[in-house]
Amino acid sequence: MAKFEPGFRDALLDYLRKHHADICRHWFDDVEPSEIRDGVLRLIVREPVQLRYLQRSCVTQFTEAAQSVTSRLLVVRFVSPEEDLKVTARGALPASADSESTERASWLDEQMLLSPDYTFDTFVMGPGNRLAHAAAHAVVAQPGRAYNPFFIHGGVGLGKTHLLHAICQGMLRNQPTLRLCYISCNAFMDLFHEAVRAGRMTDFRNRFRTADVMVIDDIHFLSRHEQTQEEFFHTFNALSQLGKQIILSSDAAPSEIPDLEERLTSRFSAGLVALIERPSFETRISIIKSKALMHGIDLPEEIPSYVAAKIDTNIRELEGALTRIRGYSMAHNLPISLELAKMALEGEPPARGGNAPSLQAIIECVTRFYDVKLAALLSKKRHKSIAMPRQICMYLARRHTRFSLEEIGGYFGGRDHTTVMHAVKMIDEKVRADAKLQSEVQHIEQDLLGRGK
Ligand code: ADP
Ligand code: MG
Repeated sequence: MAKFEPGFRDALLDYLRKHHADICRHWFDDVEPSEIRDGVLRLIVREPVQLRYLQRSCVTQFTEAAQSVTSRLLVVRFVSPEEDLKVTARGALPASADSESTERASWLDEQMLLSPDYTFDTFVMGPGNRLAHAAAHAVVAQPGRAYNPFFIHGGVGLGKTHLLHAICQGMLRNQPTLRLCYISCNAFMDLFHEAVRAGRMTDFRNRFRTADVMVIDDIHFLSRHEQTQEEFFHTFNALSQLGKQIILSSDAAPSEIPDLEERLTSRFSAGLVALIERPSFETRISIIKSKALMHGIDLPEEIPSYVAAKIDTNIRELEGALTRIRGYSMAHNLPISLELAKMALEGEPPARGGNAPSLQAIIECVTRFYDVKLAALLSKKRHKSIAMPRQICMYLARRHTRFSLEEIGGYFGGRDHTTVMHAVKMIDEKVRADAKLQSEVQHIEQDLLGRGK
């Protein structure tokens, strides 16, 4: 067993901030080194959702940092305080999860989808979301009793998903063994169709009807899916008869979701329906500051109000602007200033620097190859003729630049990191399976890498 030098954690975090800024979050400060045993450095993480995030996306980066700081060949393992105690007592890491935690693990699987970035701590309240925010707190305090169902609606990028994640994490903090089911409506529909196809409806029903809390994001996607609506109606009734909390989000009010059965509309409206509206100028400023803090970005005084004045559509765009500014500053190795922010947001073509291609160069090569317009690529259009080249851009950006998923998403019209992850994975799979696409992508890559040489 090795004791840590004072300042060990700070050294670890400094390394990460320097070399892996994109994964860093303000709450990394709460991660606590336990001990090094048998070449394994255990880091204790108290919040389950943070633990999952670190286990899923940060092991390599932390391992690299730990090796650099200690000059020892060790690996990092993130553990809960309970697991850490067990290891200390037993003197060895358990080979696999023991049976008592297996059932709980299957519920935790669903919570893997929760982002540690989306908590109440990071949710900025303003006139546009005050009611939804207050109601969310009430639901956390009294699941199943305050407002049931709790229905949040509002436009794209206004914080519905963020609030749902915050509720889930608040509830899990109060009651860690809660059977909390968080799922997107599309995933619910996929699982349903899969169950029907495989003749496993009993499993499907058991899974959803035994939850203590059921949270479904983007429920408006039920529109026009009659068969799923029918099944969901029964799930809803089963849960609400047991007094279980149901929480839904949607881009429209219950009565405004097209082609939704009347009996669902009336059930959705039976509890509290809260609208989230666009944020005010002041709220936008606070949000930018809070995001910058979370990502460890130093913003000069005048930037938040500049960005807030420029972007008044939704918060995802606001965040996209911030990642774009940071991306621009990293790509050009310049400190963030008002001038740089203007260049990043007002589309001055960046000069090529270093060896890695710029995002701009990737876009140029892809738009030329597929003969699509730049504006269309950066727009929200989902048509295949646009979506595919856009996904290829993201794939190439991931392969050939050091930008994070978030930065890439920000650059491509404010898409979130899961969209980018999905795009990269999909193109990667397709390229392997489809020789034509493979050769197209190779063509573009040659064009891209041959530039400026
Ligand atoms: P929606 O689900 O309504 O489309 P999201 O919840 O995905 O929107 O929000 C988009 C982005 O904006 C997320 O990164 C989220 O953290 C951020 N965001 C939205 N509302 C707020 C808020 N009030 N405070 C801080 N961040 C917010
Ligand atoms: Mg959402």
